[in-house]
Amino acid sequence: MSRAPLTDPEHAPVSDSAAGDTERALAHAAEHCEAHGARFTKARRRVLALLLAQQQPLTAYQLLDLLREHQPGAQPPTVYRALDFLMRNELVHRIESTNSYLPCNHQHCGHHPARDAHWPQFLLCDSCGETREVPLDGALRQALTLQARDYGFEVGARPLELHGLCAACRKA
Ligand SMILES: [Zn+2]
Ligand SMILES: [Zn+2]
Repeated sequence: MSRAPLTDPEHAPVSDSAAGDTERALAHAAEHCEAHGARFTKARRRVLALLLAQQQPLTAYQLLDLLREHQPGAQPPTVYRALDFLMRNELVHRIESTNSYLPCNHQHCGHHPARDAHWPQFLLCDSCGETREVPLDGALRQALTLQARDYGFEVGARPLELHGLCAACRKA
């Protein structure tokens, strides 16, 4: 699997628009936390900023490596605690099948759905590693829920992960 090199938002030259997007997303996250009485601490903000600067999801250890460039003594619990917080506040998602994390892309666009309605779907490219969060169609979601109910099973709001090839890799 060939992946793009990781970018450090505070060292690498980022385009103005990418930097603007990151700033907007961080400002949105701060507001979101304030509205929910949650503390958006420096460590939480930095972990989110590192994730926002990537074009791909990161594992906790990749995050730790990037974090250590700013905070040489950072330990795994720092990253895990920040990730826990960011996930509880739906600012970050965990991709189970690759054990990695990526920022929720609904945060930017102002239509972040209500907590119980947020049931994302991820399209994961097995060739380049691209991971996209896309909304799960309401009818499909209902069909899945009803089908599980036939077995007396209540589906929780776990994201769906679909593996395959992205548009660019299909053309290659
Ligand atoms: Zn999301
Ligand atoms: Zn791809």
